[in-house]
Amino acid sequence: MVNLQDSHWHKGLRKKMVETLRAKGIKDERVLAAMEVVPRHFFLDSALAHLAYEDQAAPIQCEQTISQPYTVAFQTELLQAEKRQRILEVGTGSGYQAAILGALGARVFTIERHKALHSRAKELLAAMKFRNVRCYWGDGYKGLPEFAPFDRIIVTAAAEEIPQTLPEQLKPGGFLVIPVGEPVQKMLRITRNEDGTFKEERFGSFRFVPFLKGKA
Ligand code: SAH
Repeated sequence: MVNLQDSHWHKGLRKKMVETLRAKGIKDERVLAAMEVVPRHFFLDSALAHLAYEDQAAPIQCEQTISQPYTVAFQTELLQAEKRQRILEVGTGSGYQAAILGALGARVFTIERHKALHSRAKELLAAMKFRNVRCYWGDGYKGLPEFAPFDRIIVTAAAEEIPQTLPEQLKPGGFLVIPVGEPVQKMLRITRNEDGTFKEERFGSFRFVPFLKGKA
């Protein structure tokens, strides 16, 4: 399905995309470097691959979307992921965000409610040799209690409110990055303090597909 030779394609376009992200205010060099190496064109349907390095969201299967590169960069920057940290991603979608976290050297657990998206992402990430990314089919509303606690949790779908299960699956000192609100979402970063209380910070406005309860 994936020809790894094609990873080298579009290097120039990726460099340009990264310059755009830098101009829009992304500063974390590790995030920019990860986005420069991961071939985003693998994660789009082949008919849309020519859009892969435009800074825009694009449709994927099951009426979902692969997030805009700026959004991926923004959320990843807020996450401050370190090598070998355990990271839960809710909303695998195409698998692109999981690949970026994988490229940062984290141990990634990603969950998706649509079986077709889950299977495609799992196959793709395996073919790309991301051995540190594990894909699960299930309801991310429940998190992944069997693999908790996590250093970081990232939700890539729009929540009406924060599901209580997610902050509870954080280690002390860990963060949850989640877009909350309707019809536009505020990006929130919730920190679990060492004493068990939570701190909330608010960042820019974004638009995501909805965070839905249950498996599809
Ligand atoms: N991170 C993805 C973006 C996908 S869009 C990427 O890089 O491509 C958000 C995804 O969240 C959709 O695929 C949607 O099906 C999924 N989703 C929504 N509610 C969910 C839930 N309760 N559990 C797991 N996945 C969910």
